[in-house]
Amino acid sequence: MVQSKLLPASEIESLDHSAIPRIRLPERATTFAERAARMRKLADSNPIGGYIRLMASVADAQHHLQATFESRQPSNDALAQAQQHSMPLLSSLSADRDPAWRDILYRLLDKIEAGGAVTPALGKVLDKLRLNTPTELDAQADAVLAQRYNEISPATAPFIMAALQVVWTDLASRLDPRDIPYLDTPGVCPVCGSLPVASIVRVGGQYQGYRFLQCGLCTTEWHMVRVKCSNCDSTKGIAYHGIDGGSEALKAESCDECHTYRKIGYQEKDYEFEPLADDLASLTLDLLMNEAGYQRSSANPLLWPEVPSDG
Ligand SMILES: [Zn+2]
Ligand SMILES: [Zn+2]
Repeated sequence: MVQSKLLPASEIESLDHSAIPRIRLPERATTFAERAARMRKLADSNPIGGYIRLMASVADAQHHLQATFESRQPSNDALAQAQQHSMPLLSSLSADRDPAWRDILYRLLDKIEAGGAVTPALGKVLDKLRLNTPTELDAQADAVLAQRYNEISPATAPFIMAALQVVWTDLASRLDPRDIPYLDTPGVCPVCGSLPVASIVRVGGQYQGYRFLQCGLCTTEWHMVRVKCSNCDSTKGIAYHGIDGGSEALKAESCDECHTYRKIGYQEKDYEFEPLADDLASLTLDLLMNEAGYQRSSANPLLWPEVPSDG
């Protein structure tokens, strides 16, 4: 493992923050299609290549469903409230969740089955999901969104999350960046309050050289200065870890204050870096980080850990 300690970058912090684009909203026409393509590319010679290809077919289904879906938009009152209280615009945990997500889930399962990539074991998982009542599905969505690992079934959670991603990404894609509140908690998504999946340091135009956290639910990206823990805000004890002989475009950003890490990708090293797909396809780096004593600060939305239930 390559490890290098960096000092807090005072140069970066002294930049004029008003010049930095604060928010980068998802493109509804391309988000899931680009993710699917990236997953297929990364699946080759990957230790979990079969699983990544399955998730690429999930992303294909998300892309097709997104094309004809229109989410319920927040009211002007809700926008004003969120701005006034520095709260996420439409919290994914609010009781007011768009019920359309369940219909998206059923259609997503149909599309995956029609795609033909379904083994008998996976077929059973999908059938089991279909047998849930709306109340049971909402309870599972709550557990997944709140990352209550001991209530989550790793087999079904990726499909639940995929359906929720369609609804929230659609919602985010239709927002005006100026309506999005400034939060006191920089580590959560200002649109939906969810945790980021990974960071990306972008190239090009107004985004050049800036680091953004990408939401694991709605795909909104928000700016965070570099060399800072996206879990606890510490600027001390930050280090970067890569895999010897692996991609220079991907590192794990670890924090010695909270002992967690989150991955970060550098577009100047690999322009096609896609936070969710590249995070999913770098399990080897997760294993190295765990051996080094660091925990993930949040799960990949499409790959959940097996955690024994409290019973
Ligand atoms: Zn979000
Ligand atoms: Zn930290």
